Amino acid sequence: MRILIIEDEAGIVRFLERGFTAHGHGVVTADDGENGARMAVEEPVDLVLLDISLPSMDGHEVLKRIRQKRTGLPVLMLTARDDLRNKVDALDGGADDYLTKPFVFEELLARIRALTRRADQQQSARVSHGDLTMDLLSRRAWRGENKIDLSSREFALLEYFMRHPGQVLSRQQILSAIWDYAFDPGSNVVDVYVRYLRSKIDRAGAPSLITTIRGSGYRFDPGTK
Ligand code: CA
Repeated sequence: MRILIIEDEAGIVRFLERGFTAHGHGVVTADDGENGARMAVEEPVDLVLLDISLPSMDGHEVLKRIRQKRTGLPVLMLTARDDLRNKVDALDGGADDYLTKPFVFEELLARIRALTRRADQQQSARVSHGDLTMDLLSRRAWRGENKIDLSSREFALLEYFMRHPGQVLSRQQILSAIWDYAFDPGSNVVDVYVRYLRSKIDRAGAPSLITTIRGSGYRFDPGTK
């Protein structure tokens, strides 16, 4: 899971970063509200930890910005003290949960597990294999940290491969799935688009994620590359 930490206290950020990394999560950080709000909306993150008192824009305003663009993104607010007013405001503003500082890391992990279980049920709009991720709602795709710009056909083709990992897909299957009108069976449109897609998703010098199976078609092998 990729977690965005929006927090200006460097000590807390380091503590959280260490903990999450040790548990196999990816971490991105922002130390002010303005950047945090932008990253939550633009970056492929799965959860946001949001401090309330922040430079440039406070946590409540950041939350408002996030909710305008990404309603389903789980947001857990951090409150500095046992401040009922802030907690009520956070939940009213659309936060999924809050935690009062200081907290025990294990408790934070438990809250996150509960939140992401809920989020998984709400949005199955994300598909990922290996380090490839697609967001079917915003129509965006990433390989690792890098955003991939895809045309709508390329996006549809990649989604089709992502939904059938490890299977050999014939050109005819791909044609009828992606190009819903009858194409000349002699057409090489599938091969052309697979080439486009490879040039965008593959890493230079590394084997392609899409293997050509001679005489049969293509197989998407995300796990083995
Ligand atoms: Ca703070």
